[in-house]
Amino acid sequence: MEENKLAPHVQEINRALGNKLSEKDIEEELQHYIEVYKLSVPMAKKTIVKKHGGDASSFSTGFQRKLAELRPNEPNVDFLARVLTANDKTIEVKGEKKNIVYGLLGDESTTLPYTVWEPQGLEFSKGDVVSVKGAYTREYRGRVEVHFGNRVTVKKEDSSTIEAEEVAQGPPRIATVGQIRDGMGYVETKGRLLSVEERDVNVQGEKKTIYSGAIADATGKIQYTAWSDFKLKQGELLKISKATVRSWRGIPQLNFDDRADVTRISGDFPTVEELSKTGITPISDIASRGGAADVSIRGTIIEVRDGSGLIMRCPECKRALQKGTCKVHGRIEGFPDLRIKAIIDDGSGSVSAILGRELTEKLSGFTLEECMEKAQKSMSFDSIKDAMDDMLAFKVVDAVGNVTADAYGLSMIVKEADLKTPEVREEVERLLVELEGGR
Ligand SMILES: [Zn+2]
Repeated sequence: MEENKLAPHVQEINRALGNKLSEKDIEEELQHYIEVYKLSVPMAKKTIVKKHGGDASSFSTGFQRKLAELRPNEPNVDFLARVLTANDKTIEVKGEKKNIVYGLLGDESTTLPYTVWEPQGLEFSKGDVVSVKGAYTREYRGRVEVHFGNRVTVKKEDSSTIEAEEVAQGPPRIATVGQIRDGMGYVETKGRLLSVEERDVNVQGEKKTIYSGAIADATGKIQYTAWSDFKLKQGELLKISKATVRSWRGIPQLNFDDRADVTRISGDFPTVEELSKTGITPISDIASRGGAADVSIRGTIIEVRDGSGLIMRCPECKRALQKGTCKVHGRIEGFPDLRIKAIIDDGSGSVSAILGRELTEKLSGFTLEECMEKAQKSMSFDSIKDAMDDMLAFKVVDAVGNVTADAYGLSMIVKEADLKTPEVREEVERLLVELEGGR
C-alpha cells in the first residue's frame, strides 16, 4: 500500500492515541499489520489503538472496505459496490405484507448476496454503483451476506467508479489447496478427501446435516464444510468449483453448497497416505495464508520465553498462576505443570510455539518431578526456565500443529516436536549431571 493512502489512517490513529506516538512509528506498525499479518485496514487500526491503550470505540468508522474483507456478524460496515442484480419480493412478516429487495453486489474482490429490509427511500437499481454506510452482515451456509437495515444510507456514485468488467465474477479463482486464503471470493480447487464426517447442526432454527473433513493436495491441507449432500467419500479426488473461503480462529476453511460444482476427477494424484504425511511448510506461507491446520515447520528456537519451565496452574480453570494468583479465581493452591513457550524462526518468519508437559519433558529431558525437586533446592522457578533456555536456544526443531494468526502474529499449539540436533541429547545429559552435582 502506498504511503499517501495510509496517511489519513495514521492521523486518525494518532488522534485516538492523543499524539503520544510519532507518525512514523504508527505508520510502520500499520504497515506491518497490513502486510505481514494481512489484517484489513480497519482491523489493523483498531488493534494498534487498543494495543497502545487508546479507545478504539471512539473511531469514526467510515472507511470503505472491499466486499471480500467483510466478515459474518459485523454490526456496521461501509463499502462501495456495483449492484449486479436487484429483485423485488413481497414477504409476510408477522401477518403483514412487506416489500424487500434482494440481489447480488460486487466489487473487484468478490460478489455477495444482499437484502434490503426497508427499501422505501433507498433508490437504486441494477447497474448502479453505490457507496453504502451502516449495513450489517450475517452468514448463511458459510457465505457472508449483506443486510441493509434501517440505519443504512446509500449514495449513488458515478457508475464508472466500478466498471462492470472489474467486478469479480464469472470464473472462480483457480488455486491449489496451499494457495487458498481468506478473502479470495469464489475459488476452484482440486484435492483428495482425507476424511468425511457427518454432523447435524442448527442453521437459523433449522436442523441440517453437514459434511466436513480435510481435503489435500501436494501443496497443503484444508478443512472443508459441505452444506449439501454431495455423497462425499474418503479418498475421492474432487474438483470443487465456486467454493468460498472463510477463516475460523485464523485458519482458512473451504465452504461449498449446492451452488458449487463438485466433480469427481481422475488422474495422477498423491494417495491419502502420502497426503496425510505433512511436508514442511515455510512460515511465511503460513503467514500469508493467515494460519493453517496441522502443518509442519522446521526452524530454530530463537528464544525460550518467560512463563516457560515449571509453572503452577489453577485447579479450577487450568490457567497459569501469576505469583500464586489466578486472574479469575484469585489466590489459590495450584498444581505443577511444565510448558515451553518458544519463538521458532525458519528464516522466512516466526511463530510463537506452545508446548505442553509431555513435549517439554521430551525436548528438555527433564521430568516434572525432577524440575520440582530442583525448584525446591534452588527456591526458584526461574532456574528451570533458564536451564531450558540454555539447552534449547538456537537448536533446530521440527514441530507439527495448528497455527492461528492474530494481531500479534502466528501461534502454534504444538502436537509433535523433535529436535533435529543430535548432540542436544548429550548436552541435556551433561546439564543434568551438572545440575545434580550442584556445581
Ligand atoms: Zn482459575
